[in-house]
Amino acid sequence: MTTPRTVTIDGAAVETAKHFDVVNPATGTPFAEAPAISENQLDAAVRAADAAFGTWRRDEGVRRQALLDAADAVDKARDELAAILTTEQGKPLKEAVAETYAVSMWLRYYASLELAPEIVRDDAKGYAEVHRRPLGVVGAITPWNFPLTLAMWKIAPALRAGNTVVVKPSPYTPLATLKLGDVLRDVLPPGVLNVISGPDPLGASLTAHPLVRKISFTGSTATGKKVAAAAATDLKRVTLELGGNDPAIVLPDAPIQKLAHSLFWSGFMNNGQVCLAAKRLYVHRDQHDDLVDALADLARTVHVDEGTAEGVELGPINNKMQFDRVSGLVEDAIAQGATVAAGGAPLDRPGYFFAPTILTGLSDGVRIVDEEQFGPALPVLVYDDVSDAVARANRTSYGLTASVWSDDPDAAAAIALELDAGQVTVNSHGTAVTPDLPFGGHKSSGIGVENGPWGLLGFTEIQVLAGPSRQKA
Ligand code: NAD
Repeated sequence: MTTPRTVTIDGAAVETAKHFDVVNPATGTPFAEAPAISENQLDAAVRAADAAFGTWRRDEGVRRQALLDAADAVDKARDELAAILTTEQGKPLKEAVAETYAVSMWLRYYASLELAPEIVRDDAKGYAEVHRRPLGVVGAITPWNFPLTLAMWKIAPALRAGNTVVVKPSPYTPLATLKLGDVLRDVLPPGVLNVISGPDPLGASLTAHPLVRKISFTGSTATGKKVAAAAATDLKRVTLELGGNDPAIVLPDAPIQKLAHSLFWSGFMNNGQVCLAAKRLYVHRDQHDDLVDALADLARTVHVDEGTAEGVELGPINNKMQFDRVSGLVEDAIAQGATVAAGGAPLDRPGYFFAPTILTGLSDGVRIVDEEQFGPALPVLVYDDVSDAVARANRTSYGLTASVWSDDPDAAAAIALELDAGQVTVNSHGTAVTPDLPFGGHKSSGIGVENGPWGLLGFTEIQVLAGPSRQKA
């Protein structure tokens, strides 16, 4: 596996004077160095994007074909992209491969999407139509849990709408995104897609650059607030996809033995390092013990190993900071009286491995219930009355996803609609994620949406063209 040593600026592979370590979370030691760009190189990247915008915005047919060509190039580079992604992120190789499929799927979806002006009137009052115009340079800032997928949620619609892009991945996982820049370097015109990397405050510098017209940000709520404040200085547009503390409510009639497997993976997909993972599980008192037993059995038998191991289902936590945070939240829960039904501690091996953990005996008010744990530790909470479970589920500043589990999908759907979240699902959690469906959070989980035509519109500005009627008398 060769890891990228250059960034992509103005269609060229650019060397940097400085580099920084990228750690393999399965060993806890550095395995590669990534390029760290200078402030001048950041400026060059944004200026290249700005210069490319003038031509790129003009020809929709060129853009659509370029996205299709980009999808083909990603398909050809699948194995290399996935190998890098697994090593820097920690996830099982098959999930890294799935990310690369998502990348080409999103590119093809946006290549196919229509973005035509809407004629609002053409009558005695005159003619009026609404256009959607690209904004200019988009700064795309991504986290470390799904580096390729989340970058493409921004790149594909931004480019389709006629913008140009500067992408900055997380310093924990810069390499797969830099590789994507390598793969697309000769497919897209120079300057249209620039891929940069470096430790923070690079994200803040990109946000502050006066030629950037929009920041599309995915990351924590704390950082999202800083991005919003910085963007306010010159009224940059923002889309913010932020954290969640997503509840799953298991109704008293739910067939828990049948649903336990899905419930488990709702919380533990990608080690719980998913914005839309179930992070609190509410179950009726009568079903509590049986459900905890079923979840604990699954937690104890899941195959945790490095991402390239045969049959691996969960890898390590991505980084030391997050490993310490999850460890701290679990220790705090135990100190507050939690019962550990499974796991409860790091695994005794190098790297950031943590045993899948099921905690019970907790109430609201404990940190692991009230905060976003973003890791492989799930609190199971008891309720007696469904309306109480709904009230507790909603008692959070977040509102990303939520789910309701039952034998009666209609009853579950009615309760799901009482939950304040951008996506509510029945008998699955966080599964309504396809290129054609909007995704975004309520409350502190974000501003705006990504994906589908709604996501595309977020990379545009409205322009009204009006005049005399065009109808012939
Ligand atoms: P983070 O906020 O620490 O970092 C996200 C990105 O922002 C990184 O690229 C980082 O380098 C950059 N950054 C840091 N400071 C910045 C600043 N002042 N200005 C601009 N950029 C800055 O988040 P993380 O730890 O990488 O990711 C985990 C968080 O992301 C979790 O809270 C998770 O819920 C959230 N997330 C949300 C979604 C969603 O779609 N809603 C998806 C995935 C992850």
